[in-house]
Amino acid sequence: MALLLFYKMITQNLVEVRKRIKSSCAKIGRDPEEIRLVVVTKGRSPKEIKEAIEAGITDIGENKVQEALQKYKYLAPSTYNLAPIKWHMVGHLQTNKVKEAVRIFDLIQSVDSLKLALEIDKQAAKIGKIQDVLIQVNVASELSKFGLKPDETIAVIEKIRELKNINLKGLMAIASLADNPEQARPCFTMLRQLRDKINQAPSTKHPAPILSMGMSDDFEVAIEEGSNMVRLGRVVFEG
Ligand SMILES: *Cc1c(COP(=O)(O)O)cnc(C)c1O
Repeated sequence: MALLLFYKMITQNLVEVRKRIKSSCAKIGRDPEEIRLVVVTKGRSPKEIKEAIEAGITDIGENKVQEALQKYKYLAPSTYNLAPIKWHMVGHLQTNKVKEAVRIFDLIQSVDSLKLALEIDKQAAKIGKIQDVLIQVNVASELSKFGLKPDETIAVIEKIRELKNINLKGLMAIASLADNPEQARPCFTMLRQLRDKINQAPSTKHPAPILSMGMSDDFEVAIEEGSNMVRLGRVVFEG
C-alpha cells in the first residue's frame, strides 16, 4: 500500500511538473518540446528512479560518479526491461574520476576548468568516444563554489573547442538560492547572453545550443529566460 502511494506520488509529481513547464512556455510563446527534463536522482533509490522512468523520464542526472556507477548497473535496460536512458553528470567532477565518468555519462554538465576538460579529452580518446559536455558557469559567485567565472568562460571555451574528443554542447549554471525565484532571473539572463555570445565567436564551428538552467525552486523563471534543459530533483520525488 505504501509503495503504491509512493508510485503514484512520483507519477503525479511528474504530471504536475509537465503542466508547469507547459504553462511557462505558453506564457512566453515557446514550444514545450524544446525543454528537456533531466530528473536529478542523487540520493534516490533505483526503485524510485525506475518509477520515474516508467512515467516517461528519459534523462537522469547524478552528482557523484560512485553513486552513478552503482545505479548504472541496477538500471541497465536488460535488468529492468526499461528503455535506455541518458545519463547526465551534474556534480563537481574530480580529475581522478574522469575515467569512470566518461564510460557512463552521455553528457557531463559540470566542466569547470580547462584541466578537467583536458582529462576528459584524454580519457575519451582512450575509449574512442567523443564526450558531450557543458561548461558550468558561476553566475551566482557569492554562493556557488564551482564553475568558471563569466569573464573567463569565453577564453577557456576557445581552448576546449580545439580538443578532438570533446563536443561542447552548451552551458550550465546553478542560480543563486533565494526565497523568491525572481531573484534568480538575472543569473539566467546572464547565462543566456553568454551562450549567445559563444555561438557568435569566430571560433564557433558547431553551435552549442544547450542552456541547462532551472531547478525545483526556479525552473519556471529559467524557462522564461530561455532554458532548454531543466534539472529537477525535489519537485519530482518529494510530496
Ligand atoms: C540536486 C541538483 C539539482 C536538482 O535540485 P532540486 O532543487 O532538487 O530540483 C539540479 N542541479 C544540480 C547540479 C544538483 O546538484
